[in-house]
This record gives sequence, C-alpha cells and structure tokens, in this order.
Amino acid sequence: MRIATFIHHGKRHVGQVSADGLQVTAFALSDAQAASGAQALIEAMVSGHALPAFSGPPLDIASVKLEAPLPLPRRNVWCVGRNYHAHAKELQASVFKDSNTDAQAWPIVFTKVPECVIGPSDDVQLPGPDVSEQIDYEAELAVIIGLGGKNISQADAMKHVFGYTVVNDVTARDVQMRHQQWDMGKSFDTFCPMGPWIVTADEIDGRKTRVRCWVNGELRQDGPTENMIFDIPTLIETISRGITLYPGDIIATGTPAGVGMGLKPPRYINKGDVIRVEIEGVGSIENRFV
Ligand code: MG
Repeated sequence: MRIATFIHHGKRHVGQVSADGLQVTAFALSDAQAASGAQALIEAMVSGHALPAFSGPPLDIASVKLEAPLPLPRRNVWCVGRNYHAHAKELQASVFKDSNTDAQAWPIVFTKVPECVIGPSDDVQLPGPDVSEQIDYEAELAVIIGLGGKNISQADAMKHVFGYTVVNDVTARDVQMRHQQWDMGKSFDTFCPMGPWIVTADEIDGRKTRVRCWVNGELRQDGPTENMIFDIPTLIETISRGITLYPGDIIATGTPAGVGMGLKPPRYINKGDVIRVEIEGVGSIENRFV
C-alpha cells in the first residue's frame, strides 16, 4: 500500500494512492489525526486496528498537493553517513579523511531536525553565500519504523519496518566539515525533501532496490541498496541499542557514490538547479533549489 499526505481544498489529508500512482483516496481521519500526516495511521496499523474508511471518492493526484508523508516527524530524522562503499571512497579525501573507508566497525549516525522536512516537489531554499557556498545532494532510501522497540536484533529488525520513502539528505558541505558533528550542516531549513509517499514493506524490500539521482536531467547517482556497508537490519539493531525506536521514526540509510563533492572538480548546487531522486518500487521526488 502507498500512503500519501496531501493538501486538498486547503486541508491536510492522508490517503491511499492507487497502484498506478494516478489517484489518491483520503481516509476518514479527524483533523487532529491528519495534522501529523501518516503518523496516526502508522500508529493505528501497528496496533492492529483496521484501516479507517475512505472519506470520499478517489481524487486525481494531479489535483492535490503532495506533502512529505510525515510533514513534521515526531523527532529528528536518523541518518547514516558513509554507508555505500563507492561513496566512502569518493569522499575519503574530504569528509571521511580520518579513517579507512571500509574498515569501520560501526555506522556513522547523525540526525536532521524535523523542521527541515519539505514535500516531494517543494523548493529547497539555498541559505545564501554568507552561510554556505557548498550545497550538495544525497539521494537516499528512508526506512519508516512501524512497530517500536529497543535493543532490536538484526534477526527481528525487518519486522519493525513499516515501509519506505525517498529522501534527499541535502547538505552544506563547508558547514558539515567545519563542525565535528554533522547535524548543523544537514539541518538547514528545507534541507530534507521527502516523499512522494510511503510504500509499505509488504510491497518492496528496501534491501534490494535501486537509488538514483539526476541534477538537471543528468544522472549523477545510481546505486543498488545491496551495496550498503551496513544493511537495514544492522542499522536498526545499531540505532535501537539502548534507544527506543517509535512508530514513525525515520532512518535515512545513506547515499550512493556521485555526490557533487565527490566529482573532480566538485560541482555544488546552483540557484535554479532541479534535483530528482528516484527509488525503484517507491517513487520519485523532484525539487528546485532557489
Ligand atoms: Mg546522507
């Protein structure tokens, strides 16, 4: 099932997207439930409640405005750094210079603040040259946690995956490099385009899909998720060590090779650039940088 959050006639709704992606049908949720996007629905579904009824007929998806499925996540978005072999290699002279590319024992984990999430076709705001001149893209598969838990084993981890969505982990490289921690350079306003919907885990296995990214139509990133250094079960096991994961938590699983900083010479995002991120079996997001 595909679950989208959208605005129709000025109101936020959560609905089921048709298999062809052309229509969406709103669930009968209260305004308070719909306010958090798919969050209330995820919580109800993992608690074993039946899906709510539909509130009306299917709508053409072109007639609504899609938002991020979780427009304001309940807490920071978990993110994983250096999680594809080729990407680790391309940044070994810059971001990852302090250690061997593939020899790490543990994943790099950081977060983006919830307020930086925007919708699948919203504009990303460049912060201005006095703040950063090195804005970069990172196409990523994001895991949405369903059943919560703590100290989840790799063997049980996939039972905690509700579904998947697409994220662009937009990054200010100069700010990322300036500080020991990455959260600042990753959390500028609008720096987490997300969507276009959640695809539930019964429809796709995130361990076996493909992440691609185009800049102004030029293919820059193309990586199978099988090439992750730390796979999805390992990430869930790691992040839940001593920390409870909750329904609706988001884990952005890292980006394949081909980011702007990894090119020679580096090619950062310019005003007017359009970045499209597509994940097979999930969908695509496309955002203009202004
Ligand atoms: Mg990233």
